[in-house]
Amino acid sequence: MELEKYYFENSKSLLHALPENEIEAIITDYKNGVKVLDIEKKYGLVKLNSFFKQLPFKLSDEVCEYCNIPIYIKVKRIGSRVSEFKLCIKCQHDNSGDCNCEQCANKMKIKNEERTRNLQILWNIHYVEHYNLNYTLNDLSIYDEIHLVLLFQSYSKVTNLLNFFNFRQNRFQLHRISGEYYSIINNFIDRKILIPDIYYFDSYGAIYSSNRSLPTIESLKINWILNINKSPGVLFTLSELITIIKERSYTLEDKKALWKEIYYSEVKKYIDFQSKKYLKISIDDQIIEQIVDQLLPAFPISKAYALIYYTINSSIRYTLDYSANERKVNSYFRNRMFEHILKYQDHKNLRDYNRPTQIELNYFNQYVLKNILKQENTYFYISRDKILGGNESEVKPLIL
Ligand SMILES: [Zn+2]
Ligand SMILES: [Zn+2]
Repeated sequence: MELEKYYFENSKSLLHALPENEIEAIITDYKNGVKVLDIEKKYGLVKLNSFFKQLPFKLSDEVCEYCNIPIYIKVKRIGSRVSEFKLCIKCQHDNSGDCNCEQCANKMKIKNEERTRNLQILWNIHYVEHYNLNYTLNDLSIYDEIHLVLLFQSYSKVTNLLNFFNFRQNRFQLHRISGEYYSIINNFIDRKILIPDIYYFDSYGAIYSSNRSLPTIESLKINWILNINKSPGVLFTLSELITIIKERSYTLEDKKALWKEIYYSEVKKYIDFQSKKYLKISIDDQIIEQIVDQLLPAFPISKAYALIYYTINSSIRYTLDYSANERKVNSYFRNRMFEHILKYQDHKNLRDYNRPTQIELNYFNQYVLKNILKQENTYFYISRDKILGGNESEVKPLIL
């Protein structure tokens, strides 16, 4: 291969036409720091937009590590931190760390493959040591399943990976999703049902170093995957599991449990709302559970809200008449509630209350009502039997 003395990356360079001694002189002047304007004047060049681009590479004594032919070198750009440019015109290797020539790209690919293999080996050891719990679908509760669907809908921008970056950003603001999901996410991470994606450790060098603390929801730049076995040694991807959950059917027992969950949370929210507002105390969860056990079989939530309202009213009078402490108000509330439940058991003269807009329906309840019980618009006003009967077309009427 016969090599020219100069190589012009800009083939239209005006220097191309000049005799060799002038090209040499120009390069020397440029190297010595003569101003571009002066060089242009001296050699009668029109004012050039990018003078440096016009300068040629010059054949050198160095050879290309890949082709073993001489390479071209271009003078260092004035004011640039990059050292002189090198170029093999056969393979385009430029000798720099981020050279993109075919040989270098290949080298990089092999290096990355090797790194990935090493990481995989380290990850497997790390996995067995920290996360190997052999969870299967059977280890997920019905609540876990629904929570996973909710997290998937809110946090999986990239299929199969959960990224809580937005969650962390919103955490300290009044963000509704964050409030409801914080303990859910932490619970999954604590139980190691959600585990970090392997590349988290790669980017943080965590499994190459001795620091083996496990990541938390606060950890940066992390994608989470599921730690549920699909078959021995093979984990479910998130979307695989979500598809299974969305397509599964629910037994009457499942629906009963889910409805009770919704009923309890709706009753609790209303009692909390009313008791904090009017009684300036809170009612114990244990008492709310006892009340729900009585209300659930007999009253739609709309009527339960009416009973709660009546009971709050009586309790206000009680707190005014007697300077009762919180414990006494709690038991008064419970007793009055039971009296009201008994008094209105046939629903006579008991009206339906509407759901106050200040009380938000949480995401879990929304999901269950819409996708499982299929009563998102009616649930508030209808009895348990109707709720569990669902749409006639989908579920057979209950025979009790
Ligand atoms: Zn080369
Ligand atoms: Zn290269």
